[in-house]
Amino acid sequence: MSEHIKPRLGFDLDDTLVGRELLTRMGGALKGLFLHSIPYLDPSKLPQMDHGPSIIGGYNEVSLHFHRGRRAYPGAIRRLEELAEDNDLYIITGRPAIVEWRDATIKQIRREGIPVPEENVFMTPNHESTIISKAHAIKMMGIDEYWDDNLRTQLALSACFPNKKFNWIRYGVTDTPVDELLVASRDNLHSIPISEWK
Ligand SMILES: [Mg+2]
Repeated sequence: MSEHIKPRLGFDLDDTLVGRELLTRMGGALKGLFLHSIPYLDPSKLPQMDHGPSIIGGYNEVSLHFHRGRRAYPGAIRRLEELAEDNDLYIITGRPAIVEWRDATIKQIRREGIPVPEENVFMTPNHESTIISKAHAIKMMGIDEYWDDNLRTQLALSACFPNKKFNWIRYGVTDTPVDELLVASRDNLHSIPISEWK
């Protein structure tokens, strides 16, 4: 199906390649309790968008500070280094496509030794939904397989792209409510326990 020579693999950043603080994760899980409906995405009706950095829009310096300080999971980096030999790697993140965030994210990727070139980093345009932005990048770049710790995201994307593979990085105590039957019913969705990944 794909025209590119090497398979293209995409990775979320926060809590997939770099670890968030436990408190932030707990907060996210709590938010997930109230927000667990899964959006339906039609791959032929995704909006056009530009993932390049925008100078428009404010940014939260405190949030940026915490994101910037996050460290990569050594196990995940080793895995990516192996995969980089035969695949093209991409980062597709919900972080905002704003200049300050883009610069901090690229510096962090280099500092942490994440083997993904700058031009393969896709961020979320201002005011766009993270899930729709990720779906757009996956479709536009012809990503074959995608890793993310957010189950709601992975359920929406695996339904949108039934011919692509999705890997859910699964945390323990801070998981949002999980519909085990729904997860098991998706042939193209696999879960990886965080203990085996990081
Ligand atoms: Mg994440």
